[in-house]
Amino acid sequence: TPTVAIVGRPNVGKSTLFNRLVGKKLALVDDRPGVTRDRREGEARLGDLEFRIVDTAGLEESTEESLLGRMRAQTEAAIGDADIILFVVDARVGILPADRPFAEMVRRSGKPVILIANKAEGGAGMAGAYEAFSLGLGDPIPFSAEHGEGLADLFEALMPFFPEPGDEEEEDDPNKPLKVAIVGRPNAGKSTLINRMVGEERLLTGPEAGITRDSISLDWEWRGRAIKLFDTAGLRKRSRVEDKLEKLSVADALRAVQFAEVVVILLDATIPFEKQDLSIVDLVEQEGRALVIGINKWDLVADQPGLLKDLKEKATRLLPQVRGAPVVPLSGLAGSGIDPLMKAILQVYETWNTRISTARLNQWLTEAQEANPPPAVSGRRIKIRYMTQIKARPPHFAIFGNQLDALPTSYTRYLVNSIREAFKLPGVPIRVSLRTGQ
Ligand code: GDP
Repeated sequence: TPTVAIVGRPNVGKSTLFNRLVGKKLALVDDRPGVTRDRREGEARLGDLEFRIVDTAGLEESTEESLLGRMRAQTEAAIGDADIILFVVDARVGILPADRPFAEMVRRSGKPVILIANKAEGGAGMAGAYEAFSLGLGDPIPFSAEHGEGLADLFEALMPFFPEPGDEEEEDDPNKPLKVAIVGRPNAGKSTLINRMVGEERLLTGPEAGITRDSISLDWEWRGRAIKLFDTAGLRKRSRVEDKLEKLSVADALRAVQFAEVVVILLDATIPFEKQDLSIVDLVEQEGRALVIGINKWDLVADQPGLLKDLKEKATRLLPQVRGAPVVPLSGLAGSGIDPLMKAILQVYETWNTRISTARLNQWLTEAQEANPPPAVSGRRIKIRYMTQIKARPPHFAIFGNQLDALPTSYTRYLVNSIREAFKLPGVPIRVSLRTGQ
């Protein structure tokens, strides 16, 4: 769950907002007398959004001279912990000089911020709300913590930072078998490899072991981890082993890819990266699966180090959409390279499930924009405000800002490549959605 910090100068209504979001009961429990607390924390709920909320309001009751100094330190810490910041101003009073240092801290953090113009019940304080624009923290939401007004708008503003409903069932579940498809051109050696992995004997034992001839999946276990293998045509082909004219239909490959979480594209080391191989990788990217490149028939290769270097270079150049996918030499026939293949599969699966906190993403975004600022379009610089990960499997990010419809695809590509580098996401497609006008 994300962490949301309530930030602002004293007396803007931070405590009231905290209580509103946490609910009276919890706030009272947390409110033990005699406990000095500079920060309060609670589990908050707004609609179906649940989050941890941190408030810096406790200090307001303090009488210490160094109040403002301590409050700034606390605010800095709260901002540091937060994924999202609610910056509260008083819409009736308007913007005071005291608001600015807090606004500056928030801006410097580069974290996503939602500006709340509080005490605006019944449309009061519109002038103050307009003044709030001058803080450069985006559009203010007219709000009343005391009267519970503006909650729907706050919900709207927070929603993009939460996983979409329905994502829960997609979560990584180690008790479920990991679904792996082995795909590749005919004769790449898929059947040979699969037989070697699961063991000839088991394969021949037939239905009792859960294997039927026309089934396209096969249950297996590797070092205690349940694996479900999907084959394109290999298994069925066993009934007509000599039929080597069989074409790989794209529909067949697509079906296996769609079933899978991780796809192994099996290349023949003696004829690697054929056109058909590249079309299969396109499917993997379109379907958003994780990729491992298996190089089969390694036993036939004379200059192994030389070829491996060459193939890794080719993979980077020919398959930029899944850059960094592990390249694993193996021999299905000799039974070598299967452990490294399985390790690569588990590793890329983990990468595919990666979730990156909004805080880390926005810290990175600030740096990425400094290193290479978005271009100007008709004299106006495109502004990216913040980003968040909306999904995993594969990692999917939403980027918010102004005029993003004008953002060149080269810049999006720059962002995707830098995300891949910075957060170590090799071998998985990366999705980015641009959300403009926020
Ligand atoms: P599929 O069409 O991808 O299922 O390919 P098969 O598994 O039927 O293999 C095609 C041919 O390649 C067969 O003659 C296999 O014996 C051979 N083959 C498969 N794997 C290897 C390997 O690792 N090394 C060598 N030398 N031959 C292999």
